[in-house]
Amino acid sequence: MKKLQWYFPDSIEEALTLLKGGKTVPHSGGTSLANRGLSSVSALVDTARLPLKYLRIDSGNLEIGANETYASVADGLRNILPGNLLIESLGHATSTPLRNRITLGGSASLFPLWSDLLGPMAVLNGEIRAEGKNGGSYDVFAWIRDHSLQRETLITSLFFPDAADWISCYYRETRVGFDYPSFTVSVLARINGKTVDTVRIALSGGLDRVVRLKALEEALTGRDVFHLSSVDVLSMASVPFGRKPSGSPEYLSAVAAVQVKRCLETVLLQEERR
Ligand SMILES: Cc1cc2nc3c(=O)[nH]c(=O)nc-3n(C[C@H](O)[C@H](O)[C@H](O)COP(=O)(O)OP(=O)(O)OC[C@H]3O[C@@H](n4cnc5c(N)ncnc54)[C@H](O)[C@@H]3O)c2cc1C
Repeated sequence: MKKLQWYFPDSIEEALTLLKGGKTVPHSGGTSLANRGLSSVSALVDTARLPLKYLRIDSGNLEIGANETYASVADGLRNILPGNLLIESLGHATSTPLRNRITLGGSASLFPLWSDLLGPMAVLNGEIRAEGKNGGSYDVFAWIRDHSLQRETLITSLFFPDAADWISCYYRETRVGFDYPSFTVSVLARINGKTVDTVRIALSGGLDRVVRLKALEEALTGRDVFHLSSVDVLSMASVPFGRKPSGSPEYLSAVAAVQVKRCLETVLLQEERR
């Protein structure tokens, strides 16, 4: 059996030195690393001692340290940003033991098709902040397009500008609660009187991993909330899917569009239903 070297650095500088060369990789929650072959890896740099566990809110901008877990983010945000989309998405993802382990850094490194972070990042205009060889701040679409950005690079935080005061809806398509979602829907809106000020819609899990439904957003923005019934949401929200255990591409595409429509009804018409 291959022996792996473990390192437990206390500072980001030390961790970055250890990551040089590319055969040493970060270990955070370990939920993915534990399942994957590590033949190309010579050592693991555990991130637990790094100062990457924090939730900061400043003038509506939210920054979350990479070592916060799904569970700790959902719990922390309930106090500082009640109603935030991440409470619903991360707080109900997978099972309790996994939510207690999965970190935002590990999650943003992989962004798997079943991610409960990817769709919310897309509508919250989230940025990945990293240090090391490719240090910088990346929007989520640029980040997932280029995996080479991650070489010798440590994700330090996720940044969400203008994260407060949204009406939100999150939907994950699963057969049982702890299942991998076959797709997710994320919707954010701000409504002024009966007019849609802003609406953002993302669908993740399809062939393109995550898409913002821009044409649909434009069709609704600046219009009366009831204009929703005049828009052909089902065709505008139709995105291509691959085959999954939960259904054929055609089936998943149709069900996802229905769930986009339901989420839009929830956020745009909630006041009217009271
Ligand atoms: C059974 C199961 C079900 C799951 N279901 C869901 C689900 O429904 N929804 C969901 O969103 N997720 C789900 N996940 C989690 C997801 O698949 C990954 O396992 C998770 O994103 C990995 O996070 P981690 O903190 O455990 O990372 P690790 O396993 O520690 O690392 C994963 C990768 O990220 C890299 N990495 C870790 N930290 C950093 C960092 N700070 N900077 C740069 N790179 C880093 C590692 O080197 C590795 O390549 C599930 C996982 C399992 C095992």
